[in-house]
Amino acid sequence: MTIESLLGSLQKVKRTGPGKWMASCPCHEDRTPSLAIKDDNGTILLHCFSQGCAPADICAAIGHEISDLFPPSDNYDASQPKPRKQTGFEPDQVLFAVVMEIVAAQLIVDEVLKTMPDSELKTRLDLASKRIHGAWIYAKKYG
Ligand SMILES: [Zn+2]
Repeated sequence: MTIESLLGSLQKVKRTGPGKWMASCPCHEDRTPSLAIKDDNGTILLHCFSQGCAPADICAAIGHEISDLFPPSDNYDASQPKPRKQTGFEPDQVLFAVVMEIVAAQLIVDEVLKTMPDSELKTRLDLASKRIHGAWIYAKKYG
């Protein structure tokens, strides 16, 4: 999904900076927009500051899959289903949950560090995010 497509599905969208927006969270009544949206090189980051809504629930509320938040090159080829185990989670599913948590952490840190935009802490967190995202992509390809 493109960022434009996502923004078009949301209400009260307001640009707050380069690649950053706030909008009403589609999961609940949200008069003062509390959903932070960030376009991170094609990956769309979401965080609800009101109720901490799960990105998957936010996507579902506007008719999207959570995988739509990632660039097409990161997504599964649906024509090549992988054999599934009977029980438990696939490693890439576990890593995806971790990816979503660090996305939330990044958005929270973005808010906290608004007064210190060049913080080394933010740079390090971005590196951690890229590494975890890379691990998820690796797990999907080779897991
Ligand atoms: Zn919400």
